[in-house]
Amino acid sequence: MPKHDPLHHYKGKRNFSVTPEPADGGVANEAQPVFVVQKHWARRLHYDFRLELGGTMKSWAVPKGPSYDTADKRMAVHVEDHPLSYNEFEGEIPAGQYGAGNVIVWDRGTWQAVGDPQKGYKSGKLVFHLHGHKLQGRWALIRMKGKSEKQAPWLLIKEKDDYARPASEFSVVDEMPDSVLTQPRTDDAKSQPTGTPYKALPKTLRPQLATLAKSPPADDAWLYELKFDGYRLLTRVEAGDAVLYTRNGHDWTERLPQLADALNALSLPDGWYDGEIVVLDDNGIPDFQQLQNAFDASNTARVDYFLFDVPFCDGEDLRSLPQTERRARLKSLLESRQHDANVDTPGKNHGKKVQKSAPRRRRIGLPRPLPTSALARHLKHRPATYWHPHAPWDWKA
Ligand code: MN
Repeated sequence: MPKHDPLHHYKGKRNFSVTPEPADGGVANEAQPVFVVQKHWARRLHYDFRLELGGTMKSWAVPKGPSYDTADKRMAVHVEDHPLSYNEFEGEIPAGQYGAGNVIVWDRGTWQAVGDPQKGYKSGKLVFHLHGHKLQGRWALIRMKGKSEKQAPWLLIKEKDDYARPASEFSVVDEMPDSVLTQPRTDDAKSQPTGTPYKALPKTLRPQLATLAKSPPADDAWLYELKFDGYRLLTRVEAGDAVLYTRNGHDWTERLPQLADALNALSLPDGWYDGEIVVLDDNGIPDFQQLQNAFDASNTARVDYFLFDVPFCDGEDLRSLPQTERRARLKSLLESRQHDANVDTPGKNHGKKVQKSAPRRRRIGLPRPLPTSALARHLKHRPATYWHPHAPWDWKA
């Protein structure tokens, strides 16, 4: 085994006639290097954080796993380079072997260094952006000073950006514990995305907000969101019972009895449904004043509900899927109920004329085309996952 083989430490620790781990191989992704985080139940649970660099996966063992809190400095022990093919590895490392225990692919995606990654790696300060299912935004790996080179302790730190969140509010390792291997790579739109099974439907949910923009971005990675001029409303359905919540978690079911009845009549699968309630004026344009009047007069029969997202549905946590995928699911869910009286899904023939002449029967539906004057500067990034409240990307207005 030549000393200059970058995998010489990796190979020296393992007996490949016993362990199912790969001895070598894998294809380099020079244009778009990848990262992987493997959750490893060895003697102690830890998260193996790996960045593709120079033909191997540079690796750190992070006992507590990553945190979105910029105040958390997570110990990351620098360990031996792993082969690129290791990114696909999930399974059981047999007892008696190095690292014996179970391994899952906890997150994966692509990464981009800020500055020269080789220089950063050598000098002990790597700053980079992650584009994964669970890990997003700007992060840093910093080598602690004055320590020996072998198994040097580094720190994995979330840098300040719109993705950062206090640990008191969100723990990515606790809230998203499972493998992402059944999900597509974030850069592979062709495979069929699936959600993650959940054990219990969450009792509360913080809604994803849109990013405000001053002007339309040039690329097509953004979804425009209509500015509804209404109130955000989340619906939690469990065992056929719909409960309506404001964005701050207030239960408004009793204030919207007709809407709650209409939702119950749809027999939606268990889940969380996200949208906005509005009152439309005679031209079909949302009118915020009329909506307020409806609540002031305790007469909310004319309130319509535009659904635009479905973070949980029918046993699956869909939050880490691209939002385009969640919208597609919502559409097919509502289309399959289109013959029920109160559902409206925008179709080819759903122009303004139809809206004007159609009898006013809709109550719940997907956002329909509105005149451009009603178009907001609300943007959501197409691949954005749900759980981050602002779902931003590397773009500023
Ligand atoms: Mn490990």
